[in-house]
Amino acid sequence: MDFAFVSGAPSLDLAGTVGSRRNDPVDALTGPADLERWTSECPGLPDRVTVDTAAFEAALTLREALYRLALDRIEGRPFQPDDLAVVNTAAAGPALSVRLDDSGLHTSGDARAVLTHIARDGIAVLADPHVRLKECGRTGCTRVYIDRSRGARRTWCGMAECGDRVKAAAYRARRRAANREPTG
Ligand SMILES: [Zn+2]
Repeated sequence: MDFAFVSGAPSLDLAGTVGSRRNDPVDALTGPADLERWTSECPGLPDRVTVDTAAFEAALTLREALYRLALDRIEGRPFQPDDLAVVNTAAAGPALSVRLDDSGLHTSGDARAVLTHIARDGIAVLADPHVRLKECGRTGCTRVYIDRSRGARRTWCGMAECGDRVKAAAYRARRRAANREPTG
């Protein structure tokens, strides 16, 4: 399965590895190898990391806590203490190493440091009152993203992921309706 990095933050992209959460959840992370691939593809995370079963389970626990906290933010509800404990504990772990060269920023570290980084990213997103969190407008997508557009007009998690699909479906619906119009 292809991973999408469209949410505007690694923590939200991780939460987005489960799609269609309310109806028929699809989990793109089925084992440690998936998380290794996700990490290597995620901007700002190490190219190579080894994920064992314990780290994988910890990542899924962190992912679900981050998702629920993001949803609490969107719905204007208080955060749940259990979710806060998961994220705050992960955030207290070892940090990634950061290095700059002519091609840009490089990070390195083990799986635990990756989870620390993601937890800290989630905290920064969730704590910032100026961050506009939204849920994707395509029915069933359920991905949460940061709307940085002017006037907060962004509707979809990603154009390729959802916007084009919704527009194509609307176009087909209009065509069908037009074909049913009496012609004379
Ligand atoms: Zn979407």
